[in-house]
Amino acid sequence: MLLRIRVGKPRRDKIMMSTLSKSFGLHKIVKQHYLSLAKGAECQVTYIWIDKAGENLLCKTRTLEMEPAGIKALFSWDFQDEKITEVVLVPVRMFRDPFTLDPNKLVLCEVFDGNYAPTGSNQRSQCVKVMENVKDFQPWFGMEQEYMLLGLDGKPFGWPSQGLPFTADPCTVGINNMLGRDISISHYRACLYAGVNICGTNAEAFPTQWEFQVGPCEGIEVGDHVLMARYILHRICEDFGVVASLDATPIEEKKHTSGCHTNFSTKEMRSKGGLQYIEEAIARLSKRHSQHLRVYDPHGGADNMIRLTNQSTTSSFQSFSTATASRKVSVRIPDHVSRSGCGYFEDRRPAANCDPYCVMRALAETCLLGAAEDDDEGKKTTAA
Ligand code: ADP
Ligand code: MN
Ligand code: MN
Ligand code: MN
Repeated sequence: MLLRIRVGKPRRDKIMMSTLSKSFGLHKIVKQHYLSLAKGAECQVTYIWIDKAGENLLCKTRTLEMEPAGIKALFSWDFQDEKITEVVLVPVRMFRDPFTLDPNKLVLCEVFDGNYAPTGSNQRSQCVKVMENVKDFQPWFGMEQEYMLLGLDGKPFGWPSQGLPFTADPCTVGINNMLGRDISISHYRACLYAGVNICGTNAEAFPTQWEFQVGPCEGIEVGDHVLMARYILHRICEDFGVVASLDATPIEEKKHTSGCHTNFSTKEMRSKGGLQYIEEAIARLSKRHSQHLRVYDPHGGADNMIRLTNQSTTSSFQSFSTATASRKVSVRIPDHVSRSGCGYFEDRRPAANCDPYCVMRALAETCLLGAAEDDDEGKKTTAA
């Protein structure tokens, strides 16, 4: 029987990893022999796309006769989902494959139905249109992707089975303070090889929790790079025999949550006197708190309702807040931005499992195209 395990979202998977047979763990080093076998000019291209739920990534690989010159040289490809509906995968951005190396490629795809209409999980398609409308603002995005490493038993990787969670200061070193640095190091290098615009990484306060940052990129790009970085992370975790959870609340202990802080700026915000434009954008955001929370996790706000508890470094789900340098607010102006009078702001509300295109689109629409009549000021804030 074919066992299909999807990358991403491990906790709610039907298969309990601990029930898999002992032979499940393969000796990865053996694979090196086969990868070293000579081959011709063929190119293996792995198509990657977001599944129906809008949260997991799927992939399949094909052989091309030679290395494609660019994204336009790649054909669309069909895929039959679990309901045996035919969908079309349309390549949109190409990266180098850090697993099987040059000339092989990883290719991010948009998903369309048989009539060439974007499927429900294809949020990129609409986001591209919004980015086109706001392109004169030269919008830049940067995302901070947090994740938690879990062992095959679904518990935080490396934790004693009876042990109580311990916490450390973020960024600390030492095996007693953090676990899983090998993953973070490997992921960073693999992203650089692939051409993902990764700009940094750090350990978080929870010892198996890590973060990497992508950006800043202009327009649609950061969403593509974040998704490819997520794919690479899941593949690396397969090799190490652990699972990267992007759940907003990956463990019972609710204070250890994972977010995807999204940083945003326009040309005006980045120029001298830009703080004024940053404050204007934040004022617009303050009026659409509930609308944003509906699209900042893939469950209409339900994940963030649990995550944003106003404790630790999270803000309130119920009401919008903003401040300079504070990390307990919905939207923060970094201290260095406030001091220099220009730069960007940080929306701390998107959950780790957010669809980056939904977040980017909401920010662009509210801050740059926002119409006053659909503001949610005074309305009750509940998850849909
Ligand atoms: P934090 O202090 O919130 O932990 P990080 O250093 O982790 O911040 O991440 C900063 C993020 O801000 C990065 O993703 C980076 O790409 C992004 N960024 C930097 N400058 C800009 C800018 N001008 N516009 C948008 N995003 C930016
Ligand atoms: Mn950060
Ligand atoms: Mn963080
Ligand atoms: Mn942050």
